[in-house]
Amino acid sequence: MSETDPSAEAAKGRAPLWLDPEDLRWLSRHCCCPVDASEEEKDRCGRVRFRAGAALHKHGQSH
Ligand SMILES: [Zn+2]
Repeated sequence: MSETDPSAEAAKGRAPLWLDPEDLRWLSRHCCCPVDASEEEKDRCGRVRFRAGAALHKHGQSH
């Protein structure tokens, strides 16, 4: 996995989000989509959980 470049992320309109590892772990596993969630909702949920998992993975590598 490539290192995240803060300036490149900011250029894409993203903002940093710092969470405790336990919160990231929860977030990476948490899906609250209703059964009738739209594709957009499920996409967003999957994206957030993927990024939480990636951040957690990165955190684990730095210790
Ligand atoms: Zn979900």
